[in-house]
Amino acid sequence: MSIMGKIHSIETCGTVDGPGIRFVIFMQGCPLRCKYCHNPDTWKLADGENKSVDELMTEIKKYKSYMNFSGGGVTVTGGEPLLQAEFVKELFIKCKKEGIHTTIDTSGYLFNNTIKEVLNYTDLVLLDIKCFDRTQYKYITGVPLDPTISFMNYLGDIDKPVWIRYVLVPGLSDNETHIENLSLFLSDFNNVERIELLPFHKMGEFKWKELGYTYELEDTIEPSKEEVIKAMAIIKMHNLNVVTN
Ligand code: SF4
Repeated sequence: MSIMGKIHSIETCGTVDGPGIRFVIFMQGCPLRCKYCHNPDTWKLADGENKSVDELMTEIKKYKSYMNFSGGGVTVTGGEPLLQAEFVKELFIKCKKEGIHTTIDTSGYLFNNTIKEVLNYTDLVLLDIKCFDRTQYKYITGVPLDPTISFMNYLGDIDKPVWIRYVLVPGLSDNETHIENLSLFLSDFNNVERIELLPFHKMGEFKWKELGYTYELEDTIEPSKEEVIKAMAIIKMHNLNVVTN
């Protein structure tokens, strides 16, 4: 019998989590508590629906033609998918047997031997770096930054293709020095293919309220076009390929 995982939800034709058209699996459970999280309903592992790798593979195979013609594949995100690394490993082994491109979207907070194995079957990592200042990172996420730096260093060592994701939140992650330092750090890597600068939005705010959590960013506004351009310019100065949505 194939391994079971706790799944939050599935999007069969996603277009924002990696290249092409993707079968996106939102895994349940996350050790971070980002103040701007738009999926707080993924936080508690126990809240997910039990699904086996084989059940998911049956679904995934139905979309193979979409993936093939668009250069897409499968993305696991969350939550923090590496909280269920054994499950992701088996899923990705089966995807690779089918010739399907695999992407993982992670905060890089967790690391162990199983995660190393997952990376052997991962074609692309979307690494979310929430901030590049230790104190501010802890304030935003509730956990330390260093594991994510170590994770990125490991991805560099194994030359794994990486897209960095950075959410630009006014007053939280828009400090120019922090963005500059992140750019400096990333410019040393040959495996960073792009930086996705994602302007903060409040689409998940209602979920916080529904769950009875206090949403601290109620008064935070979305960044202006000018603010986004300014942040992009800092990153570009370091010869990094930066895109926004
Ligand atoms: S890592 Fe992602 S899912 Fe977890 S709290 Fe942060 S934004 Fe939410």
